[in-house]
Amino acid sequence: MNIILATGNRHKKRELSQIISSHDFLLPDDIGISFHHEETADTFLGNSLGKAQALFAACGKPVLADDSGLVIPALHGGEPGIYSARYGSEESGHNLSDTERNLYLLQNMRSISDRSAFFVCCMAFMLDEYRVFTIQETFHGKIISKMQGTGGFGYDPIFYIPELGKTAAQLSESEKNSISHRGKAGMRMAALIQELL
Ligand code: IMP
Repeated sequence: MNIILATGNRHKKRELSQIISSHDFLLPDDIGISFHHEETADTFLGNSLGKAQALFAACGKPVLADDSGLVIPALHGGEPGIYSARYGSEESGHNLSDTERNLYLLQNMRSISDRSAFFVCCMAFMLDEYRVFTIQETFHGKIISKMQGTGGFGYDPIFYIPELGKTAAQLSESEKNSISHRGKAGMRMAALIQELL
């Protein structure tokens, strides 16, 4: 089955194609649709559902949307949360790079001793107007005080997994997929889609 992804991000398309390998993923661009959705909800669930509904309204084909981010309970009750992608950009007056964003976050955490954190990924699959399925998963770890590792993206270099003694940026792609929020949500979504069709 062809599933249209509610994103313009080719990296996400590649990653999801590896996790859910029994179906073909297309970007809105690939079917001639220009898609941009303003994320206005205050939860990962609301944002992924909003993206799926907006894209379904535009293309009328099965769609998959996801929304993810990093939650740090001790940082103002869960920052950066749903604002993970743009965290610090408004305060700095420009779009931060991943490294700049990590440094900004570490600076904000300098006096915080509870370093527990988790990633969240919510996926919403819309098969038709009335058949909608969502899955949300987490990936737990700790924020360390210095970046370590060169793999992955985003907050991976400061996200430490105590059981493995490594940051997410020190894991191979397949190691990360097997335990990450997106990997777990994707695997469960793959099983669900398989069962549905
Ligand atoms: P979105 O799901 O594309 O909106 O991504 C939200 C943001 O959360 C990303 O830009 C990253 O900053 C962060 N993020 C989500 N998943 C990961 C991950 O697996 N590693 C590191 N950062 C992540």
